[in-house]
This record gives sequence, C-alpha cells and structure tokens, in this order.
Amino acid sequence: MNKITNHMPTAELQRLDAAHHMHPFTAQGALGEKGARVITGASGVWLTDSEGRRILDGMAGLWCVNLGYGREELADAAYRQMKELPYYNTFFQTTHVPVVALAARIAELAPGDLNHVFFASSGSEANDTNIRLVRHYWAMKGQPQRDTIISRRNAYHGSSIGSASLGGMAPMHAQGGLPIPGIHHIGQPNWWAEGGDMTPEEFGLARARELEEAIERIGPDRVGAFIAEPVQGAGGVIVAPETYWPEIQRIVRKYGILLIADEVICGFGRTGNWFGSQTLDIRPDIMTIAKGLSSGYQPIGGSIVSDEVAGMIGRDEFNHGYTYSGHPVACAVALENLRILDEEGIVDRVREHTAPYLKSRWESLADHPLVGEAKIVGLMGSIALTPDKATRAAFAADAGTVGFVCRERCFANDLVMRHVGDRMVISPPLVISDEEIDELILRARRALDETHDRLRAEGLMEAAA
Ligand code: PMP
Repeated sequence: MNKITNHMPTAELQRLDAAHHMHPFTAQGALGEKGARVITGASGVWLTDSEGRRILDGMAGLWCVNLGYGREELADAAYRQMKELPYYNTFFQTTHVPVVALAARIAELAPGDLNHVFFASSGSEANDTNIRLVRHYWAMKGQPQRDTIISRRNAYHGSSIGSASLGGMAPMHAQGGLPIPGIHHIGQPNWWAEGGDMTPEEFGLARARELEEAIERIGPDRVGAFIAEPVQGAGGVIVAPETYWPEIQRIVRKYGILLIADEVICGFGRTGNWFGSQTLDIRPDIMTIAKGLSSGYQPIGGSIVSDEVAGMIGRDEFNHGYTYSGHPVACAVALENLRILDEEGIVDRVREHTAPYLKSRWESLADHPLVGEAKIVGLMGSIALTPDKATRAAFAADAGTVGFVCRERCFANDLVMRHVGDRMVISPPLVISDEEIDELILRARRALDETHDRLRAEGLMEAAA
C-alpha cells in the first residue's frame, strides 16, 4: 500500500514552492505552472514522493548518495557530533577532532603524495579554492605570471563565479559575464558528437594535443594548471578515448604545469576505485572532492593537495578560508560514510561485481533503435540518442528536445534518469542490487520505447542536416 508521508496536499506544497522557492537550473515560470515533484522520503535506491509513488533513483540524488538513502549510522554520527561540538572554526590556529581524523583518513585513501586537505562545503567552493591555490603556488615560486588555467568546453566544475568560469558550459557563460580572466578552454574528448571521420584513438590524441597547442599559444611560462574531470559527468558522462589521458599526462609533465583532477563525481567509489584518477591512471597534483565524500548526507567538499603544493602554500599565510571549512558535523558524517564504504567492501564490490553487471545490462540498450553509443565507467553511464546510428546524427530539433521527452517518460515510469542535451545519464547509488539494476534497465527500455513512439507521432525523428 502506498504511504503518504507529507501532511499537506501536494498541490498546496507545489503552490508554496512556486511562490517562494527559486530552483537551481530551472525555468521557474514553467515549473510553477506544472508543479515540482515533491520528494518526501527515501531508502536504499528508492525515493518516495508526496503521492506515495516509489521511484528508482538512477542518479543517486545529484551523483552523490553513494551509500544509498536511510543509513542511520550517518544520522547517529551527526547527532553525536552536534551534542559534543556542533561548530568550531579552523581559522586562527585551532582545530578539532573530526577534521583531524577526516583529513588523515582522506590522505590515507588518496594516491601518491596527495596528503593535505583544504576543506570547503561544496565542489564549487573547492574549485574556487583551487584557482587561488594554483595562482598563489606559482606566486610563491616566483612565477606570478603563471596565472592561466586551462579547462575544457562542456566541463562542469561548479556554479560560483570562479568554478563556473573553470567549467565550459556555454549556457552558464552566457549569463553574468563569465568566464573571469585567465581561464582558457580547449575541446572536450567527446568522440560521438565531435569526432567526425577520425577513429576514437585519433580523436583522443587530437583533443589532448589541443592542450599542448594552447600552452604554446598562451606561452609555457604563463600557464599554471590544467583542470579536468576523469570522466565528464554533468557534460553527459563523456568517456575519453583510451589515447587521451596518457597524452595529457605527457603534456602536463613536459611543461611542468599542475594537473587538477575534479573528482567531485568520480571520487569515493563511483568508478570502482576510491578515485577516478586510479581507474584512469591519472596522476594529479590537486583533486577536487565533494558529493560522495559524505554520500550527500552533509554538505562538504575540499581540495586534496600534494606535498609539493601544500609545502609551498604553507610558507606564508594563505588568505583564504570558509566559515564552514572542516565543519565538525559534516566531517563526522563523512568519516562515518568512509568507514561504511570501506568496512562493507562497497568500493571493491562496485569494481568486482556491480560495475561489470551494470555494464553488461547497460550496453544491451545499444540494440534499441534510438540508442547510438552506450558508455559506462564504474557506475556512471550514458547513452546517446540518435535518429541515425550509422552516421551518429544529431536530431533536427533543438538539442535537448528529445532528451527532455525521454526524461519525462522515465519520470512517468518512476525512474530518475537525467538528460544532458540528447544524452541520457545514470549514476545510481553504489549499493544498487542486481535485481534493482534489472528493474532500472526494464524501466529505461520502456521509457525509450515510449519516447520512440512519441517522436514518430510528432515528426521528431528527423536528423539534423
Ligand atoms: N565539479 C564537478 C565535476 C561536479 O559534477 C560538480 C557538481 N555537479 C561540481 C564540481 C560542483 O559541486 P557543487 O554543486 O557541490 O558545488
């Protein structure tokens, strides 16, 4: 029997929401007319809405609820910490036990000499920190002119002015005068959409070499860092061809620039290792973390920094910090989350069992008439929707029109799958079972069939010229 867990009628909640709550990345007027879906509870990989429907969360919230919903240990950790020390700051030469313990644990988990953590409350803040870290690092080394950071088009690094500038999202740059000076963007390794007649291997090399060309053009003594997600998440789960990362690694080493791996989505088990950099053999100087660090139960993020960078920054006062850097409750919850991920063998299970199983089921969708490529690394996957697989054609309709139809059909089938343009993406909680994966694929296929019917009925199967 369906359980109604809210005490107000859905329509009343929707009315108040439309009247007073401004949603992120939303056309507020259109949403107001339709009414937002009201989520009232969750357990494991299942959400419940205010109408009592159970919805399979194929996105782990916003790529973050790695441990799944409803883990009481995390609630208990927060409760205990709130009673003991709900807040203290880490400015002015003070510290506290949860932040010490969490920093030490992260240093243990992170590869190589990434042994130092600067905390923030989100991925956006952490990437703002990174801009300041990179520029201050080079200034301390006597090369303050090395203030340019190179990033990629269609990268997502956050929504603050600094992090959105690092990101390569054209619709974000179109509002509010972004990017800030000193950020340069090169092409993304999206072979499906942009590879033309090249093989994926050729295209991967070509896109990596855009980094070298950009460094040469800007001036090797002007470039401080390159930032990238190991697998682009919000850009549509874009998995680079195999030739890409080794070439990037060669170029950053050749020019001695810092490499920042934005692990906000890829970190904490998502790719089957603690960090995406381990899965893809990337050796960064700085990692951005957030999301899965606390499985989203508390807002916390940070920058994991190498011995060399931290040593240089530490020579003088770094004029930077947030009131909630290393918030004790967030740290206590993150520690408990890491303990469970480790002790229950969840990351190992993703690598050895869940990821291979999901991969076989996810790739089976490629036989659907609407699906071009199906890509997946660990538990983050994408499918490209196309009117013509052979030519990798885009739809004639505006990008995102078809993806939006498909997302609506997923919603109608009680499945959360997100669309990025006309790519559909998933990133389920790491604890998803085989039966739940089967259910996810069943609902995804049904949604694809319904999308196909709708596109044919509305004349939307046309390919772009
Ligand atoms: N970096 C990446 C790779 C992300 O995916 C995101 C969020 N989707 C961010 C940074 C920004 O994180 P937040 O929303 O916590 O500020």
